[in-house]
Amino acid sequence: MTSSNYLFPPSAPATLPIQGSAQLIPVHRIYCIGRNYEAHAVEMGHDPNKEPPFFFQKNAESLDVNADFPFPKQSQDVHHEVEMVVVIGKAGEAIAVENALDHVLGYAVGLDMTCRDLQAEAKKLGRPWEPGKSFENAAPCSQVVLASDIGHPSAGEISFSVNGEIRQQGDLNQLIWKVPELVSVLSNFYRLQPGDLIFSGTPSGVGPVRVGDRLEARIASVGSLSLSVVA
Ligand code: MN
Repeated sequence: MTSSNYLFPPSAPATLPIQGSAQLIPVHRIYCIGRNYEAHAVEMGHDPNKEPPFFFQKNAESLDVNADFPFPKQSQDVHHEVEMVVVIGKAGEAIAVENALDHVLGYAVGLDMTCRDLQAEAKKLGRPWEPGKSFENAAPCSQVVLASDIGHPSAGEISFSVNGEIRQQGDLNQLIWKVPELVSVLSNFYRLQPGDLIFSGTPSGVGPVRVGDRLEARIASVGSLSLSVVA
């Protein structure tokens, strides 16, 4: 849709490349689920029992594909969280669990970069997590692999290393809320649109990154993501 009546040109949409295709996915919104692996819930000081899923958002403009991660100047403690990203390809609301995968176009490897100090302060003060979770370049992401090529992975290693040293290691089969459940629950709150992304949660082992670190994220059958932390 174009209009000659805009006061200034609208921003171009954030996009994700697709493996083996010249086409791009225009990204609509980014949702993230908190505490979706038991061991990570425990390491953050929470009850590992299954609680209703809760979501927060990152701005689509904070998506960064194949780019280095600039260390945010407002934080002293920035953590990595490796996550499988679910790419919605078909609109829907109040989607039944058994139909949910029909709405999933594909998957990617993402990092839910987190200013842990700002998040902790927000938690303490009962404020939104916004400054800790949604900041510039907060969502590095790989290219998308299509479900029509790889199916819908429900198991497989998810790992993250810093300078070649493994920091996070888990398996997609440890997701507390599975992908069909995430899509279904989220669709009860929002009208899901093609181009919506869902960051599905991180396994245990989250920790700080520093300027100069080389980061490697990997999910079996989905792909990998390599980037450096820069000043
Ligand atoms: Mn996360």
